[in-house]
Formats: sequence, structure tokens, C-alpha cells
Amino acid sequence: MAPKVVIVGAGISGLAIAESIERHSAAAGRPIRPVIFEAEPEAGGKITSHKEQGFVIDSGPHGFLDKEPKMFELIERLGLSDRVIGANKEAENRFIVRQGRLRKLPSSPPAFLAGDVLPLLGKLRVLWEPFAKGRPDAEESVWQFAARRIGKPAADVLIDAMVTGIYGGDPKKLSLPAAFPRMFELETQYGSLIKAQLAIAKQKKKALPAGASAPKGGAGGPTGTLHSFQEGLGELTRALASRAEVRPKMNLAQLEREGSGFRLKGPGLDQAADRVVLAIPAFEAERLLLPHAEAPARTLGQIPYASIAVLVAGYRASALPRPLDGFGFLIPNGEARSILGTIWASSVFPIHVPEGAIMLRTMIGGERRAELLEKSDDELIQLSRAELAQWVGLDPKAEPLVEKVIRWPRGIPQYSLGHATRVAAADALEAALPGLYLAGNALRGVAMLNCVADADRVGARVVAETLAQG
Ligand SMILES: Cc1cc2nc3c(=O)[nH]c(=O)nc-3n(C[C@H](O)[C@H](O)[C@H](O)COP(=O)(O)OP(=O)(O)OC[C@H]3O[C@@H](n4cnc5c(N)ncnc54)[C@H](O)[C@@H]3O)c2cc1C
Repeated sequence: MAPKVVIVGAGISGLAIAESIERHSAAAGRPIRPVIFEAEPEAGGKITSHKEQGFVIDSGPHGFLDKEPKMFELIERLGLSDRVIGANKEAENRFIVRQGRLRKLPSSPPAFLAGDVLPLLGKLRVLWEPFAKGRPDAEESVWQFAARRIGKPAADVLIDAMVTGIYGGDPKKLSLPAAFPRMFELETQYGSLIKAQLAIAKQKKKALPAGASAPKGGAGGPTGTLHSFQEGLGELTRALASRAEVRPKMNLAQLEREGSGFRLKGPGLDQAADRVVLAIPAFEAERLLLPHAEAPARTLGQIPYASIAVLVAGYRASALPRPLDGFGFLIPNGEARSILGTIWASSVFPIHVPEGAIMLRTMIGGERRAELLEKSDDELIQLSRAELAQWVGLDPKAEPLVEKVIRWPRGIPQYSLGHATRVAAADALEAALPGLYLAGNALRGVAMLNCVADADRVGARVVAETLAQG
């Protein structure tokens, strides 16, 4: 009889792990069909999409970058390649609020020098980066690293905004090597981010055919083009779920050891398994694993989470004084505003809105403004409309065609200082309980493409260890 493999959690991690297990086991001639238990009625976790009045509404993430081949390989295997859409080229301009004004993020070094995203001294300090002090022995926060290398003004504006956009987080608490491993590696390899950027640009140019221009790239920050699907990111999780054996409305309450395997229990759930993959948030895994290995379970449970709300609003284009010529804007914490920023979703993916309409996705809360999530939907709508009136000139009297507040309490894991200890605790739990695997976005990358890449690693390991047992 084929071994029983159970996955808990049908977010992108759990779903992609199921696909990986099926694929690797079929290739080895020993097919394994895992079962996925999911607490919610619908699979997808943070990634679901629906259509309302012609608007495609993504519940959590809005897109993925094209820097992870495993994501595109998965999409191809699912037969979804022709459903993928890339961000509109005209939506390249990104903005940051500084001293109460939207300022364009420069796309080249001359534009940086001529632009006003930083004051003159701040810009000069960035240029001094190759001469910055070397790395200290102690683990640095993202802010400490940025302040050391590119100066405090850039750390407070540019890096703060980037951390807000990715983690809804506080750069003074996040660990550089855990949250931005590429930046950490670039400093190790080149000794300077500017030198790294020049060297990478040179390599890319060499690899290009004569006459072609190299794609733009930052020094370790997010780069590439954002992608989605014609009907939103939910197309990916729906396709994965339709191929897998997902059991919805199954909330795992208890995980017991039974011989060398496990027994999973919850309301309406009593299931034996040889191997169990937990693709759930760290605080949930902590609760289930405390009875088995208290110390590492508690350490794992120390991974903090930021709560965040997404306010999606669709209007007639006439609600704005002019077209939105860019990707959107982010607001660094120092500006003390009540929103984190807004993605101009209809400029990025015009296919996601009906003709003549616009859609804005505004982020509220995050690590530093979690108290805002205590406000009612109506209050969040009012405060976001007031901010949008200021930043993009939204007509305060305009009637929205759709308006949705989507809340994600404890929604985004924070790779804070000491994250490596918490990942080591996950490894210790796996060692203490053979047959257990820990996955999900709390450990090795928060973006959905990290989840997909890690899922393949986990799936391959489950299959290899199952086959090794004969
Ligand atoms: C607002 C927001 C915006 C984001 N934007 C982006 C973006 O633009 N690009 C990007 O790449 N990433 C983005 N992310 C991150 C990305 O969405 C996540 O990293 C990814 O979706 C996490 O997938 P996961 O499967 O690891 O976890 P989840 O999606 O959280 O899935 C975990 C699943 O486990 C289930 N579960 C939990 N406990 C139990 C239990 N006891 N029993 C059974 N089931 C259980 C849950 O119901 C859930 O379905 C964003 C996240 C948020 C919240």
C-alpha cells in the first residue's frame, strides 16, 4: 500500500508541495497521492481571486516577479502559460512620499542625481556607498545595514518604503540576511552594492545579443516584471487545487504520534498518516507541536506576524483628474500617514478592470500601525478615501463601483533579528519527529515564488525519504 502523506494547509505552499510530491513520486515509479486538509471552505490561503462588476479582485498578493524559473515551470505544467499576463510597460513609474509630496523613484543613476526622491546630501551619501564601513560581527537589521551603506536619509525613505511594500514591516526589526539575503550576499561578494550593480549590469550586457539593452535591476532588492493571470492570481491556486485531493473545512486541532507515524484530529477529522507536512503559519504549527517538543515549538512560535488590510476600490476613470501613469506609491513610516501605500492596479494589469474604470489597492496597518485594523470597514474606507484624495486627487464625492476591505490578521510573517534561530528550531522539530515536515512562508521566503521554490524542495525530500524506507 502507498504510504499515506497528509499536507495541512491548502495555501500556495501546501498545494505546490502536493504537486511536487505527485510529480517526483510518479517519476520514481512509486506514485503517491497526498491528501490536503484545509481549515477554510476554499483552497488558496492568501491567494484567491474573484470577479465583481467586471473587476478582478485579488484577496492577498497582487503579482509575482519573473525571477524564479520554478514558478514558470509550475505554470507550464498546469497548462496556464497562455493565461499569464505581465505588468503594463507604461506602469513602470513608482512613487514615494517624502515630506508630504509624491516623488518619482529614479530608474537610472542620472535620474537619481537629477530627481528629488532624496535631498542633495542624502543623494551624495548614497554615492559614497563603496567607501562605507564594513559589516559588523553582529546580525544587522535591514535599517542598520542600509544606514551604514547608503546613509540614514536613504534608509528612512527608500528602504523603509521597500520594507513596507514587501513585509508591511519595520526595517529596524527585520534581519538583513533573513529578509533580504541577496543584499547580504552581494555585500559579501562585491564589498559594495554599487560595485555589485555595475558588475551585474556588465555581466548581463555581455550575455545579451549585440544592440539589445540590459533589463534594469536593483542591488538585491526586488527586480523584474510583475506577473499575474487574466483572472487574477487565484487562477494558479484554483488550478493546483483542482488537481489535488483537498479536503476543505478540516481544521487540524491535534497532531498525535502513532507508532512511527501520526494521527491527525479535529472536528470531523480523524486520520492516520505516515508523513505529515505542516504548510500553515508558524503560530499554528507551534500550537500543534508544543506537546511533542516544547522548546523548539516555542522558538518557532516566536516568528512575529504583521496584520494588514487591503482596501480594493474600483471607480469610473472620471473619479480622477488625470490617468494614473505608474505602478503606485509607498509611504515611509516617517511621514506618519494612515495608509502604507497604494497600487494603481488598473494601470499595472488593465485587463483586470472594465473599460473606462480604474482600480486602486490600498494597504493599511502593517507591523507599525496594527491598531488601525481595530477600525470598522467604514472607518478604513473613509481614511483611505481621504488619503487618495490627497495623493491621486480622487474625487471625494465619486461613487465607487466596487469597494472591499480584506483583512489579514497576522497575515505576513516578519523575518526579524534572530530569524535563523527560529528556522533552526523548525529543523530541530523535524529531527525530533521523523516523518514531519515544516513548510510555508514563515521560514524561507515570504513571496509566493519563494513558497513555490521551497515547495519543490520539500516535496522532493518527502518522496526521497519515503522511497529510502522501501
Ligand atoms: C496582503 C498581502 C499581500 C501580499 N502581496 C504579495 C505579493 O504581491 N506578491 C507575493 O509574492 N506575495 C505576496 N504576499 C505573500 C503571499 O501571499 C504569501 O507568502 C503566500 O500566499 C503564503 O502561502 P502559504 O501557503 O505559505 O500560506 P497561507 O496562504 O497562509 O496558507 C496557509 C493555509 O493553511 C490553512 N490552515 C492554517 N491552520 C490550519 C489548521 N490548523 N488546519 C487546517 N488548515 C489550516 C489556512 O486556512 C491557509 O489556507 C502577500 C501577503 C499578504 C497577506
